[in-house]
Amino acid sequence: MATIGFIGLGNMGGPMARNLLKAGHNVTVFDLSETAVAGLKDAGALVAASAGEAASGVDVVVSMLPAGRHVEAVYGGSDGVIAKADKGTLLIDSSTIDVATARKVAAQAADSGLAMVDAPVSGGVGGAEGGTLTFMVGGEADAFAQANPILENMGKNIFHAGGAGNGQAAKICNNMLLGISMIGTAEAFNLADKLGLDAQTFFDISSTASGQCWSMTSYCPAEGPVPTSPANNDYRPGFAAGMMLKDLRLAQEAAAQSQAPTPLGSEAASLYGLMEAAGKDGLDFSGIIKMLRGDL
Ligand code: NAD
Repeated sequence: MATIGFIGLGNMGGPMARNLLKAGHNVTVFDLSETAVAGLKDAGALVAASAGEAASGVDVVVSMLPAGRHVEAVYGGSDGVIAKADKGTLLIDSSTIDVATARKVAAQAADSGLAMVDAPVSGGVGGAEGGTLTFMVGGEADAFAQANPILENMGKNIFHAGGAGNGQAAKICNNMLLGISMIGTAEAFNLADKLGLDAQTFFDISSTASGQCWSMTSYCPAEGPVPTSPANNDYRPGFAAGMMLKDLRLAQEAAAQSQAPTPLGSEAASLYGLMEAAGKDGLDFSGIIKMLRGDL
């Protein structure tokens, strides 16, 4: 069993840290929220007074923070994770952040002789609670091999995507494609409806024809065809439009930095931005169909 420092105990990090405790690891936690910390203390975790303290004297550090600036703040500085971790401690950041920051922080860790992987997830809160997350991991092969048994306690599918930052790259490229395909699917179902073609009939045809995609067959934005999709639950998330927007903006940042043309990714970010401006970014991201219908 490992000794683990866990930093960031929100909607995702809380249940992930619980799964590490359940697997028998010794877990020391830190979060700025006292309530979040208290929940984990009740579940058997030790409590640290700072991120640096959580990172010292442990085998592994796992962090699950909102954005790149939080990751930089927690890992950097004289009291941060990198300064306080012992030699040989493996650093795992599972936050979804921009590729450039992930690479910068991994390089700072390497300069201090510490191995670090970026390991963002998909699977949402349900996946975090059930220990069924998918991890997309960027970092050296040795660090990936070391991280794997820890990640297995929190997830089901664990992929090595390449060097530092490639986990984040895989995550944002996937989610950019998902955002685009969801908007395309919503446009097709809306147009079908306007042309007098009902959702189930269009689904039966298109889901076995060349328009088929995950956004249609597993998560259909029109009410009816896929009983488990948020469309049949008043568009409650699921995966909130605001979180999709975060990932689309990260993709746009990466596209600008790498000079990759992403015209549809840019348009998808604008459309989800309109959902946010309408105050509807708490709806599931498939709720974009409501905006196309003029219902938001
Ligand atoms: P959250 O806001 O619920 O939790 C973040 C936690 O980090 C909070 O408890 C906050 O107090 C803590 N925190 C912030 N700054 C800190 C600091 N300096 N030191 C210590 N703790 C600090 O967010 P979440 O939903 O758990 O998401 C975490 C990450 O996972 C994000 O990057 C998000 O994009 C990603 N993600 C979320 C989901 C989801 O469905 N919620 C799915 C996939 C990926």
